Order: sequence, then structure tokens, then C-alpha cells
Amino acid sequence: MKPPPFEYHSPSTVEEACALLGSLEDAKVLAGGQSLVPLLNFRLARPSHLVDINRIPGLDAIYERDGGVAVQALARQAGVEDSELVARVCPLLTAAVRLVAHRVIRNRGTVCGSLAHADPASELPAVLLALGGHVIARSARGDRVIEAGTFFRGVFETALEPDELLVEAWFPASPGPFAILEESRRHGDFALAGVVRAADRLALFGVAPTPVLADPADPARGLRPSGDLEATPEFRLHLVRTLTDRAFAA
Ligand SMILES: Cc1cc2nc3c(=O)[nH]c(=O)nc-3n(C[C@H](O)[C@H](O)[C@H](O)COP(=O)(O)OP(=O)(O)OC[C@H]3O[C@@H](n4cnc5c(N)ncnc54)[C@H](O)[C@@H]3O)c2cc1C
Repeated sequence: MKPPPFEYHSPSTVEEACALLGSLEDAKVLAGGQSLVPLLNFRLARPSHLVDINRIPGLDAIYERDGGVAVQALARQAGVEDSELVARVCPLLTAAVRLVAHRVIRNRGTVCGSLAHADPASELPAVLLALGGHVIARSARGDRVIEAGTFFRGVFETALEPDELLVEAWFPASPGPFAILEESRRHGDFALAGVVRAADRLALFGVAPTPVLADPADPARGLRPSGDLEATPEFRLHLVRTLTDRAFAA
């Protein structure tokens, strides 16, 4: 299928991108396009404007900051996967990014795009939450730090305002034992349910509209996962309990 009509913009600086987002009605940022382009093609998204950030130089760094790892908006998932810095400082992020789709998708897909997209079954939002990281949102009004705990608002919904560009995500160093475990029908598919352990903290994904923190001793308490053709709510609860046991036994 062809996407619905939209006006295409290709800013060459972050300031220009922010000015466009602040002045255009109904605009969407295009990063790796691995989620947005399928949504356009299926006509599930119909933005009037696309602001393609791919031609902005100097927005793809992965660097050490405040004892953790900062990942800028155009850093590809594959770059994070291959990064020696990430493997040393935040090996949980290395392990998590390997579970995202397939390598060809990770070659284009960005870590920040995954966070901004906020798919409930996505690994990286749960990692950010488990570690207590944050994102930096930029607009013509300035920069805003948004903690992971308040960033994810609902299914495909975040605290980003329409005029804000997510310029950077910050993942604290993974402290002590960590694990990310998930169950999916086939390798590379979105998870039916998954758990992230960062020392004694536990975050779950695929079982609520957003990633959620949970008690490792009783991870399914208060959860009401939805059922679909892939898994019943009961099966998702079973997965959460089993995967949590494994993550904490590891
Ligand atoms: C077959 C397939 C399997 C997949 N499997 C998985 C999986 O197992 N786990 C998983 O997590 N993901 C999976 N994905 C999604 C993939 O990881 C995407 O790369 C990711 O969700 C979005 O990143 P992107 O850079 O491609 O963003 P885009 O597709 O460009 O954008 C996605 C959304 O985020 C917004 N956005 C992007 N960047 C920014 C920014 N810097 N500031 C503000 N808004 C922004 C866009 O406007 C859009 O709404 C899969 C995709 C495919 C096609």
C-alpha cells in the first residue's frame, strides 16, 4: 500500500527541526522509519508533515555521561549493539538491543525512536525504566529532562509534546546482576511478555499499556494483561512469573 500524502521536510540542524515541529500542524519525526513507515503504508498514521532528522550531522553519538551511557537520536540500534562502551558500562542495554527485531532492522532503527514509539511490547523502554534512566526532549522552548518513570504514558504514548524532539536517552550503568528474558513466537518477533532485571529492580513489558516496575517476589500482582490471538492473559501472567524466577535465579 502507498502512504497517504504528506509534506516532507529535511532539516539540517536540530534547531531547524525544532522550529519545524513548533510551527507545523500535525507533524511527525522520521528517524529509522522501521515503525513509522509501516504505519504510514498501512495508513494507520496520517501525519500532514514528516520531519526527517536523518540529515542532521552530529546527532548519532554514543558516549559516557555521568557514569552511564548517553545515546543520541540518530544512533542506530546496531551501533549500540556493537559499541564497546555500551558493553562495558551498560551490558544490559547490549543484551536488550540484540532482542529487538533483526539486524537489518537494527541497522536503521534508532534507540531513541524505539523509546519515542513506546510500543508496550518493546524491550528498550523497559530497560530505561528498570535502570531509572531519562530522556532529553528539546524544543524552541529549551531542553527538558524526563525521567523514565514519567515518560511512558500509554500505548504508543509518551510525555513528549508535539513540538519536542527526543535528542538523547541516558541509561545508567547496569548495577550488578542483570537479565532480560522474553518469550516470542519466533526469533525477532515482538515479545508476548518479557522481564528486565537490573540488580534488585524488575521491569515488565508486553503485559500492560506501558512498561511497569514490579515486585520480584510477586511480579504478577495487580497486572491485567490483555489477551489476543498470540497469548491469553493467563499465559502472559504465567510467563511473567516464570521469566522473573529465571531472571533472579541467574
Ligand atoms: C519486522 C519488525 C520487527 C520489529 N521487532 C521489534 C522488537 O522486537 N522490539 C522492538 O522494540 N521493536 C521492534 N521493531 C521496531 C523497531 O525497533 C523500530 O526501529 C523502532 O520501534 C522505532 O525506531 P525508528 O528509529 O525506526 O523510529 P521511526 O519508525 O522513525 O519512528 C517511530 C515513532 O517514533 C517517533 N520518533 C522517532 N524518533 C524520534 C525522536 N528522536 N524524537 C521524537 N519522536 C521520534 C516517530 O515520530 C514515530 O512516531 C520491529 C520493527 C519491524 C519492522
